[in-house]
Amino acid sequence: MATETNPKALQGGEFLIRESAPQDIFIPEEFNEEQRMIAQSAREFLEQNVWTQLDRIDSLEEGLMPSLLDKAGELGLLGISVPEDLGGFGKDFVTTMLVTEVTGAGHSFSVAIAAHTGIGTLPILYYGNEAQRKKYIPKLATGEWKASYCLTEPGAGSDANSGKTKATLTPDGKHYLINGQKMWITNGGFADIFTVFAKIDGRR
Ligand SMILES: Cc1cc2nc3c(=O)[nH]c(=O)nc-3n(C[C@H](O)[C@H](O)[C@H](O)COP(=O)(O)OP(=O)(O)OC[C@H]3O[C@@H](n4cnc5c(N)ncnc54)[C@H](O)[C@@H]3O)c2cc1C
Repeated sequence: MATETNPKALQGGEFLIRESAPQDIFIPEEFNEEQRMIAQSAREFLEQNVWTQLDRIDSLEEGLMPSLLDKAGELGLLGISVPEDLGGFGKDFVTTMLVTEVTGAGHSFSVAIAAHTGIGTLPILYYGNEAQRKKYIPKLATGEWKASYCLTEPGAGSDANSGKTKATLTPDGKHYLINGQKMWITNGGFADIFTVFAKIDGRR
């Protein structure tokens, strides 16, 4: 599965300080044909849909960013690291990183797609229960639902645990009422799914 990691794999610049053989070191020349093809379609997507629209993006034209995410979804760019049984393509971490590198040239679109596919989708994929995964992930993988991740608050940025947003269980025990303030939430203006960080009983 795409989310598995090899504990023995060399991390970052570790090849400089850990005994390692040349074949253990990954270099861009080792991207396979499929990875290059996927990266090329991401590049063409930017050329055709994003770089031609920078003025409209800068003027915050309503509906434009979600429509770009829809198009990215149609091309399969939102489901690359999502397992196939949840509607994605189950590609490996290297492919995901390669596409992220390419879409990183997409000005503010790169923030929208990274928030959707990264912090918007992966926490549910990694830590959601089975029912949550089945409910949310397939629609996030196609872009039918757009995702956001709501952690930062006016008084809680780097020190994210100091957030003051509260979740209180309703007397019937069925829902949590959330009270608080969030800011800098990428895709917050149009998202369908909001993963919101809040404290329960002021502690948990
Ligand atoms: C483009 C963009 C998109 C974002 N999208 C999201 C999103 O989708 N969801 C979300 O929840 N948040 C989002 N954020 C918010 C982001 O997570 C916060 O900006 C980040 O956590 C930093 O918090 P802050 O801006 O309050 O800065 P602060 O935490 O106030 O930090 C200000 C400065 O002080 C430094 N600093 C902080 N603490 C220490 C310390 N203990 N020691 C030394 N230096 C320190 C920092 O390095 C920084 O230079 C986004 C931000 C940006 C820029």
